[in-house]
Amino acid sequence: MVNLLQFDRAGLGDLCEQLGEKRFRATQLFRWIHQRGEHDLAAMTDLAKSLRDKLAGSAVIEALPVASEQVAADGTIKWLFDVGAGDAVETVFIPEADRGTLCISSQAGCAVNCRFCATGHQGFSRNLSTAEIVAQLWHAEFELRRRLGLAPGERAITNVVMMGMGEPLQNYAALLPALRIMLDDHGYGLSRRRVTVSTSGVVPMIERLRDDCPVALAVSLHAPDDALRDELVPLNRKYPIAELLAACRSYLARAPRDFITLEYCMLDGVNDSPEQAGALLALVRGDGTAASGLACKINLIPFNPFPASGLRRSPPERVAAFAAVLQQGGIVTTVRKTRGDDIAAACGQLAGEVQDRTRVAERGVRAVPVRIERNVAKPVTRRGAGLPVARERSAS
Ligand code: SAH
Ligand code: SF4
Repeated sequence: MVNLLQFDRAGLGDLCEQLGEKRFRATQLFRWIHQRGEHDLAAMTDLAKSLRDKLAGSAVIEALPVASEQVAADGTIKWLFDVGAGDAVETVFIPEADRGTLCISSQAGCAVNCRFCATGHQGFSRNLSTAEIVAQLWHAEFELRRRLGLAPGERAITNVVMMGMGEPLQNYAALLPALRIMLDDHGYGLSRRRVTVSTSGVVPMIERLRDDCPVALAVSLHAPDDALRDELVPLNRKYPIAELLAACRSYLARAPRDFITLEYCMLDGVNDSPEQAGALLALVRGDGTAASGLACKINLIPFNPFPASGLRRSPPERVAAFAAVLQQGGIVTTVRKTRGDDIAAACGQLAGEVQDRTRVAERGVRAVPVRIERNVAKPVTRRGAGLPVARERSAS
């Protein structure tokens, strides 16, 4: 049985052809799935009966089982999805007055192993399939539409950020069709500006993304020099800062926005001094080098602690002073508001329910999968005042 959430429209077209059906039927089928949230092939009444019959024996439209759902005081919702064999991934919905943003996971765990990230600490389990990436959006969109009582055509999710668990550019083959489904006018119809891929800096794949599907790009920088970045983001040893910034500059030629977002997680006493702010400013302006600067906006993320990180969040005054250096240097700099931290849904706190594979590997013990007991999963907690309504629909 194949899950139809696996295919972008071209892929569904291929499938129709393989079944001896007309390619164009794929568009109808795609619209039923991604515009109407239909999971029952039999309910797709205007779809050729011959195609429905053929699909009935070979295909399903299957959501991911929800292991738990939590709602934070600020309306942020975190879903934990069971992806089998003891792995789980998290998806976070962040409602704001003018938009609804969904933060999606791309892998169970992550192999990059950044010092300050809960996902990194748990180690890498496996890549998600396109169906598993898309199922997070499919569930959230249609579940929220039902709850909010949205009219047909109204959307709950206006923005997607690939900032959940995992490094999306280390799962490129599955990511690309998923992005195409999000952007497709017959699917979710999100504009390229409203879909953001966040990466720790997989340079060759930044170049691929530029050529294949240039959506908005965020790069997790976290340090102004290679010595520190090597420690915080081990991938830097393979793709150092100069190469990363060069890839960013070349991405801009096709990017939907005229800047790259640089993310910088503020760690007390590690990367948050005024001197480091000055070094970051010089870096993005290209001072003292032959390279030109990088058109960017800098997003400072207060570190969200998790057990065993051994790191502390920079105090607000220090974050403000760091931001001031950048702003005075002419770089647009924002400080990310922490959302959903009461349910561990904030950046870098997503760990699913998988065990710490890194430490297991160190001990040389074979990882034993942890079973998710669906019956004892955390109940839905509702501490907020009900769901806020995200009604903004303009495609700015
Ligand atoms: N792997 C990708 C996307 C997922 S992480 C990447 O690294 O970009 C999304 C963002 O959250 C990244 O900028 C990441 O550096 C940041 N982040 C990770 N752990 C964090 C933590 N504990 N506190 C604050 N931000 C964190
Ligand atoms: Fe992976 Fe991103 Fe976490 Fe680094 S910050 S370990 S790349 S998910």
